[in-house]
Amino acid sequence: MSKKIFHSIWLVALTVFLASLVFIMGVTYSYFSGVQRNQLKVETQLAAQGVALNGMDYFMNLNSIDYRITWIGSDGAILYDNEADRSGMGNHLEREEVKEALETGFGESSRYSQTLSEKLFYSAQRLPDGTVLRLSGVQNTLWSLLLGFAQPIALVALLALILSFILASRLSKKIVEPINQIDLENPASYLGNKEYEEIEPLLYRMSVQQSEIRRNQRELEKASHIRQEFTANASHELKTPLHAISGYAELLEGNMVRVEDIRPFAGKIRQEAQRMTQLVCDIIDLTKLDGGANEMQRNNVDLLQIAKNAVDSVQSEAEKQNVMLTLSGEEATLYGVPQVLYSIIYNLCDNAIKYNRPNGTVEVSVQNYDRSVVLAVRDTGIGIPQEYQERIFERFYRVDKSHSKEIGGTGLGLSIVKHGVMIHNAAITVESEQNIGTTFTVIFPKK
Ligand code: ADP
Repeated sequence: MSKKIFHSIWLVALTVFLASLVFIMGVTYSYFSGVQRNQLKVETQLAAQGVALNGMDYFMNLNSIDYRITWIGSDGAILYDNEADRSGMGNHLEREEVKEALETGFGESSRYSQTLSEKLFYSAQRLPDGTVLRLSGVQNTLWSLLLGFAQPIALVALLALILSFILASRLSKKIVEPINQIDLENPASYLGNKEYEEIEPLLYRMSVQQSEIRRNQRELEKASHIRQEFTANASHELKTPLHAISGYAELLEGNMVRVEDIRPFAGKIRQEAQRMTQLVCDIIDLTKLDGGANEMQRNNVDLLQIAKNAVDSVQSEAEKQNVMLTLSGEEATLYGVPQVLYSIIYNLCDNAIKYNRPNGTVEVSVQNYDRSVVLAVRDTGIGIPQEYQERIFERFYRVDKSHSKEIGGTGLGLSIVKHGVMIHNAAITVESEQNIGTTFTVIFPKK
């Protein structure tokens, strides 16, 4: 950046210098041309007086002069010329300056002389006898002027180069210095500082981005912590049924089980294996939800139909537990992920049956409103004490650990529900009273 600023300043300085040089040369050139013309005029008038007095003799006394001098007769014939051969020159009456001199007494012009191939000034004076005396001189060209000035120009140019180099390098350093001094960890502290006024938008954006980065970092750390905790918990949860299975298998292997106990042992092994399967399924579900809902296929689905399917799959379990499971409500179309909606209802119903009492009931309802669809799962079970109602959505959290395990809980059901609810921008609430029952309500917003 400093290099770029330096180059720009240097370029500007040089451009300004060259432009002023061209301008000054132009002005000087026109000034000198004027002086030259005036001089020629004066000389012509003087020479004319001489010729008028002395005639041809004047030219005899003429030593070397810087001008070409021509005496033209009133008929246009050349009477005298100090440079070109008289006979080779045409009639001169048509020449601009001569014509003008004959008319007004004095005339002048400038043109390229074909005979001498240079730009020439002409100045002509009429004599009292009607003849015309003309002087002409070579006009300084711009090049000759430049050549004449070459030395001082070169000197000034060198000085300008050195000066602009020093200035440009100092200036660029001065401009960049405050930027280099910025403490990048804390760009917001420069806001409002006069020296940094021009780059305030940049500083502002930097500080916004920095706080975003910090926030993201915190979130990442939190997520990584949760993941670590989850892995540890999951391994622990998986270890328990595995230990049980290998314990039963060991007893069977060592022939330490009575024949009539073999069947119940096999049943226990199956139960533990089933619990493990359930745990693995729940972990897979949660991992999928953790991956974000972006890749999941969303559709317009009828929540009542999904509730029917979920209720059907837990119906046999309800019958086993002697719990009456019913579904009511109306068709309600939602834009969502069908399998996630299914697992929300499935897990809520599964809990409502698991934590119920004999002859209890579970009522599932789907209500369709203008702006929302409301799902409610109401049971007449053991209820959840107020102090635990917030924590039940945490992974592996159970109110009564041994009871939950006994009835095949994994501690992940409500985490899956919470995640699924979040993916649908919905809200979940729980109302519960111990030994009376619990109602989970999910409100899905309509787009
Ligand atoms: P679990 O697999 O243990 O059921 P959840 O995450 O589904 O795990 O539930 C967490 C805890 O919340 C349960 O262990 C239970 O103590 C409590 N709970 C969930 N649903 C109900 C309910 N309908 N009635 C009473 N307690 C419930």
